[in-house]
Amino acid sequence: MEDLINDTSLNVDDYGIAIQAGHFSRRTRLRSDIARAISANQFKVYYQPEVDLQTNEIFAAEAFVRWEHPEFGTLLPREFITIAEESDFMLEMGDWILNEICRHYSEWLNEGLPPIKIAVNYSSVQFFQKNFVDNIQKITAQHNLNPDFIVLEILERVSINDFSIVKSSIDKLHEVGVKVALDDFGTGFSSLEYLCKLNIDILKIDQLFINTIPYDRKNSIIIETIVNLAHKLGMKTIAEGVETLEQLNYLKAIGCQAGQGYFFSRPVPSSEYKKLLIDKFINLNDNQQPAEVFKEKRQYSRYRFPLYLEASMTILKYLGQDVHFGSTLVLIQDISAGGLCFFSTLCLPVRNSLLIQFSTTLLGKHVEFHGVPVWRKEVKENLYKYGVSFKISEKKRKQLIDFINQLELQFNNDPDALNGDFVRQSPYSYFQLM
Ligand code: C2E
Ligand code: MG
Ligand code: MG
Repeated sequence: MEDLINDTSLNVDDYGIAIQAGHFSRRTRLRSDIARAISANQFKVYYQPEVDLQTNEIFAAEAFVRWEHPEFGTLLPREFITIAEESDFMLEMGDWILNEICRHYSEWLNEGLPPIKIAVNYSSVQFFQKNFVDNIQKITAQHNLNPDFIVLEILERVSINDFSIVKSSIDKLHEVGVKVALDDFGTGFSSLEYLCKLNIDILKIDQLFINTIPYDRKNSIIIETIVNLAHKLGMKTIAEGVETLEQLNYLKAIGCQAGQGYFFSRPVPSSEYKKLLIDKFINLNDNQQPAEVFKEKRQYSRYRFPLYLEASMTILKYLGQDVHFGSTLVLIQDISAGGLCFFSTLCLPVRNSLLIQFSTTLLGKHVEFHGVPVWRKEVKENLYKYGVSFKISEKKRKQLIDFINQLELQFNNDPDALNGDFVRQSPYSYFQLM
């Protein structure tokens, strides 16, 4: 019992009110801490390479802010950008980020590294600030830089605000040599014709679409259409969140020019990014694919779901005793008559005495599986992949084989036909979003 109780990651999901109250006080705390974070030197800028998909050449970096909070550890922008926006701190923080990017970029140039573009995420608070283009010029000039190395990333939803204001701001950016990219494209409501009138230079296809390659036919059609139309309208496309070789090959085949994602590199500090820039090309042979490389030994043939299957996981017994920890959501990747493979943010002990139940919906029915974890692999910080061996009678196993055969027959390239609790994200995005 001890392992399980002492495992702090289990407490994270110690469900319900406790977690909500924790979340509330954490947000309040962040709100009061954020104004001091700059002077306390707690923000850091990380860089992720943007890569030409045909040549594997790094042609740009996207800058991401991180907050190294003294108590909560490294925080991602999802948690604090809205706090910064609400507290009017965004402008000061945005200036600090741009200054830091200029400082790093000058250092890279001074060390003889090749000039590249740097994509800077811009909040709408910054974009709709009067004279924001003058501000960019002022900051870059302080570092003796011309602003033409900058690509400003704005969210698709920002672009559908007042047309004339957005258009004149983009024109001004173009006058000083700054390019404009539309971030998370495909999740908002803008039309390509409208974007063309705005003279947007780059469309970044949202990772929600890329995640489902090659399992979701409809999303693939959307991606191909975006790439073709953007190309014809003179815009470049960059795929976000490329995580697997399969996704890379698909994007290359449909003519998407560029990509970024964990498959090439995670966002890294400036010192690490410099090393990537010395090579200038991503060496794909060095790349391990996080989830896929792990070899699993299974006696029965595996059925890989076309999308990840969301299931509720409950620990039933540990060391022969009943336990009551409540349930948590996990994502099942594949299943066989012998077991299944799932992702979770919980770090569970790999023990034969840990009996777990998975409940989900498949073929329109509520189904349950019972098993014990037989291996665990940390695929990312706080994200674990597990192999589970089913503890079931031979009669049940035969029924399961029939059920899996039925899934294969039913699928016929259409995930909707499986009528289950599928999600359209990868485990990385799913657990970040939760
Ligand atoms: P975004 O610009 O769309 O950034 C993409 C996010 O996906 C980044 O998360 C990045 O770390 C993550 N990512 C990159 N490759 C992969 C991958 O292969 N798989 C998955 N699952 N994720 C990947 P991050 O850094 O947490 O940033 C989230 C959002 O926060 C950004 O979305 C951007 O809108 C905003 N943001 C980040 N840095 C800044 C900043 O300096 N200023 C402003 N205003 N917003 C920022
Ligand atoms: Mg971005
Ligand atoms: Mg994005």
